[in-house]
Amino acid sequence: IRKKLIAGNWKMNNTSSDAADLVSGIVSEVGRANDVDVVVCPPFTSIESVGKALADSSVKLGAQNMHPERSGAYTGEISAGMLRSLFASYVILGHSERRALFGETDAFINQKVLAAIKSELKPILCVGETLEEREAGTTLKVVQTQLEAGLVGVSKEQATSVVIAYEPVWAIGTGKVATSDQAQEVHAFIRDLLNKLFTPAVGGKIRILYGGSMKPANAPELLAQPDIDGGLIGGAALEARSFVDLVKAAS
Ligand code: 13P
Repeated sequence: IRKKLIAGNWKMNNTSSDAADLVSGIVSEVGRANDVDVVVCPPFTSIESVGKALADSSVKLGAQNMHPERSGAYTGEISAGMLRSLFASYVILGHSERRALFGETDAFINQKVLAAIKSELKPILCVGETLEEREAGTTLKVVQTQLEAGLVGVSKEQATSVVIAYEPVWAIGTGKVATSDQAQEVHAFIRDLLNKLFTPAVGGKIRILYGGSMKPANAPELLAQPDIDGGLIGGAALEARSFVDLVKAAS
């Protein structure tokens, strides 16, 4: 059985002092939770301070992006090794905002996935269709392409450290959550693909998160679906109260 995972993606929000307040609110309530994995992904500017605040808790640290190379002339970029040295254990890769606003391709995202695994960072690989793609009936095809291309070269031994996040672009930050049936349909499809790409035993261990306007009110129904193993939370992760309630909903 898969342990549920609730990850907060803070995006480009919170100064380091805002981050300190938020993380202390989270740690005081769910810093000892162990029936669900809890991850927070602050901006790079507060990775180190948030990591220190989490040191004695069960809450894990994640980053929102990284560069695939180990070091070098990549102005403005951050490597997996830098993140590991600050005790990050997860990294979000291929978020739709990175794909749409920063031109990240499947091939580039795949290089990041491989580099993260090599550095023992757990990738949270994001996939999901736009509204146009859903209306054109190509949702499953889009998700399949992103998933397969993102996982090229990942062995079945490595695959169990990977987390997949299904984030329909039309549901991100819009308040329009996918229905539990819509989400489960895609999650089951992803599970089936993972079973085929690796083995059913491996596919059965990989966690598939839902992301897109997930809130304490809609979480119980989503999390009750057989292939929804947690959430990647944006807006509702910016307040301790709602994030803690989401963790509790997954417990
Ligand atoms: P919202 O929860 O704000 O819709 O964002 C979801 C998301 O993109 C998480 O990565």
